[in-house]
Amino acid sequence: MAECIFCKIVSGEIPSKKAYEDDCVVAFYDIAPVAPTHILVIPKEHIPSAADLGEGHAAVLGRLFAVVAQMAREHHCADGFRVVSNVGESAGQSVPHLHFHLLSGRALSWPPG
Ligand code: 5GP
Ligand code: ZN
Repeated sequence: MAECIFCKIVSGEIPSKKAYEDDCVVAFYDIAPVAPTHILVIPKEHIPSAADLGEGHAAVLGRLFAVVAQMAREHHCADGFRVVSNVGESAGQSVPHLHFHLLSGRALSWPPG
């Protein structure tokens, strides 16, 4: 999608520090980390948010969560980590391209704010 920041990260038009990339998934370090480990895992396909997911996305979701787990292992998140996907502005979504935040390295309170 032409004006989407994360599509531009996928294409390389906007630079990012990538942690992982394959044919359908990219993981990169968040530009404004809120935890010692803060990685964004995104599909290369433009999907606006988790509200747009259906049965047809089963394969890409499996790949995304496999990469989340791989990133957690590689970043030594053995003490625990959180996977977050904000949906809609009222829930804090600022980039309308599906992404999963992998957060770890500090105590994570519950419920989230
Ligand atoms: P959201 O607020 O939609 O849940 O998460 C979007 C995340 O993308 C934020 O944590 C924000 O810091 C991150 N972000 C926004 N623009 C960029 C960018 O250009 N590069 C990187 N690496 N992260 C970004
Ligand atoms: Zn996009």
